[in-house]
Amino acid sequence: MELVEVYKQIILEIKNNLKYYQNDDINFIFNENDNSKFKFLSSDKETQDKNTFKSNDNNLSKESKMDKINAQVMRCKKCSLYKIRNNTVLGEGSLNSEIMFIGEGPGENEDLTGRPFVGKAGELLVKIIENVLKLKREDVYMANIVKCRPPGNRNPNDLEVSACINYLHEQIKIINPKIIVPLGSVALSRLLPRYNGITKNRGREMKLILSREDIYDVIPTYHPSYLLRGSQSEINKKKREVWEDIKKIMKKLNMLI
Ligand code: SF4
Repeated sequence: MELVEVYKQIILEIKNNLKYYQNDDINFIFNENDNSKFKFLSSDKETQDKNTFKSNDNNLSKESKMDKINAQVMRCKKCSLYKIRNNTVLGEGSLNSEIMFIGEGPGENEDLTGRPFVGKAGELLVKIIENVLKLKREDVYMANIVKCRPPGNRNPNDLEVSACINYLHEQIKIINPKIIVPLGSVALSRLLPRYNGITKNRGREMKLILSREDIYDVIPTYHPSYLLRGSQSEINKKKREVWEDIKKIMKKLNMLI
């Protein structure tokens, strides 16, 4: 790609992101449910989708709301990741789940299948869900910070996250979980930017505040792929730490330990 094209792409993405920040600010300052005050800002299909979602959502079922977000994500071009995706990966699981696991973004298997957490790390997460939490995969909800795979499984960058994070926020509001579990430092710092580093923050109780009415408990833990790395003694140590975090999560959910 020529340099001028790269600059054009960057300027376009910055413009897009400024527009969404603008809407978010106005959305927060005015009453969230009164879209009439900021509708004049809508100038393209994606912004109109966003406002339509907010203005009509009260009468929709959880399934319909999630379908609506999925339709938006499937045609989304708000960041350049859309160009290389095979599939978007919105999320999967029970919309009535009390617990929501959040990773950083789809990997290769997720991109190919359109499903979150289906690789080796996903298998380990499912083992934790089944053997420790005594739940099934379909009982919980799993999603990611970004919905399209970053190339080479790199971490999503600032532009990609700021373009995409609103989809996750809407998913959280629909599911209304009792506890959100960011998996790994990227998911944690992208969800709650003031917390940097998973080793020092895992197991801590935090709050995610999306609006005056939408406040959620958060307890982060390691990403399952991190659990698979290192010597056996390191792996055992990390597994013990995850067990400690899971016990806190179970206590929050009033589950028997
Ligand atoms: S990562 Fe998110 S913002 Fe970027 S194209 Fe995919 S759905 Fe859209």
